[in-house]
Amino acid sequence: MNCPFCSNPDSKVIDSRLVADGAQIRRRRECTDSGCAERFTSYETTELLLPKIIKKDGRREPFDDTKLVMGIDLAIRKRKVSEDDRYSIIEKIKQKILQYGEREIKSVLVGEIVMEELFRVDAIAFIRFASVYKDFKSAVELEQFSALVSKGIQPQMEDIS
Ligand SMILES: [Zn+2]
Repeated sequence: MNCPFCSNPDSKVIDSRLVADGAQIRRRRECTDSGCAERFTSYETTELLLPKIIKKDGRREPFDDTKLVMGIDLAIRKRKVSEDDRYSIIEKIKQKILQYGEREIKSVLVGEIVMEELFRVDAIAFIRFASVYKDFKSAVELEQFSALVSKGIQPQMEDIS
């Protein structure tokens, strides 16, 4: 990192500490040019790289935060889901996707992760999301699916005949 005062490309770190609850490292640096020796601060953050999405037709696309949030907002619309819960659903989903640890993830798996989190929070939101996502072939399928949910069971597609 160039010194902002003299553009010397070298600086030494004289202090570094965690800030923003450990999400950032703040470093105090000193220019190594003896004629300058100015001090400045740099910040370092981790770049959270979410994996690419493998679509059903095999195409890859970058993970789209906005799409995820929109899907969740649609599912929880007019439901009694607090802003805190909404935030934590989104964070947990991203965490799980990151923990998956691969550079690519199937969209189907992302859908399952979303459903798992919605199931915990609101049955109707879960059914809404699932009904778009699972692409039910008939009202009967949706009915069987919902019947399991009302018993507190998170249905898997295999459960539906
Ligand atoms: Zn300098």
